[in-house]
Amino acid sequence: MKVIFLGAPGSGKGTHATRVKLALDVPHISTGDIFRENIKGGTPLGLLAKSYIDKGALVPDEVVIKIVADRLSREDCKKGFILDGFPRTIRQAEELKKIADIDVVINLVVDDEAIVKRVAGRRMCRCGETYNVAFLNGSNVCAKCGGELYQRDDDKEETVKSRLEVYHKETAPLIDYYRKEGLLKDVDGAQSIDKVYADILKVLQ
Ligand code: AMP
Repeated sequence: MKVIFLGAPGSGKGTHATRVKLALDVPHISTGDIFRENIKGGTPLGLLAKSYIDKGALVPDEVVIKIVADRLSREDCKKGFILDGFPRTIRQAEELKKIADIDVVINLVVDDEAIVKRVAGRRMCRCGETYNVAFLNGSNVCAKCGGELYQRDDDKEETVKSRLEVYHKETAPLIDYYRKEGLLKDVDGAQSIDKVYADILKVLQ
């Protein structure tokens, strides 16, 4: 199955894509994760991506499209994949259409106010776990591995607001685009994590 997770930054795309990946047994491809790994490794791609990500801007289409096209051409994507954070522009969606037949686009709906609260409170661990300060009771340590939690630079409140503006201008038009294609399924992303996940599984059945 070939699935796209669409939604504003912090709508839960990464969290749910990680769970659905296990259920569907297909690769989870997050362009944001690919950029963060490259930033960590100090690669030329990482340096380029960082200059955009730190401002809350999008990495140029040509760069992202090439990365995703390369990744989707690998053997493990033959039986399906989950795209998380791609496409983010109409141009990316048009290019994707040339290389893959998408089965379903899950649109996680969360309003802006909740997004700003959620993302500005998000804390990460290097092991991949994600937390929110609202549930940490002042702790700064990962319950899974004991690692120290940190805030993504682009999760700071000002950058979140820029990212949301970019989302409304560049990415939200994809909602109509995929609705017209008959692929879009809205899921209320403001519910509890388990309820959102249950709704996603219903859509995928
Ligand atoms: P994410 O983890 O999906 O929120 O992505 C983090 C950042 O990486 C975004 O704010 C963008 O700067 C960049 N990025 C990720 N995916 C894309 C994409 N499909 N197109 C352009 N930039 C992207």
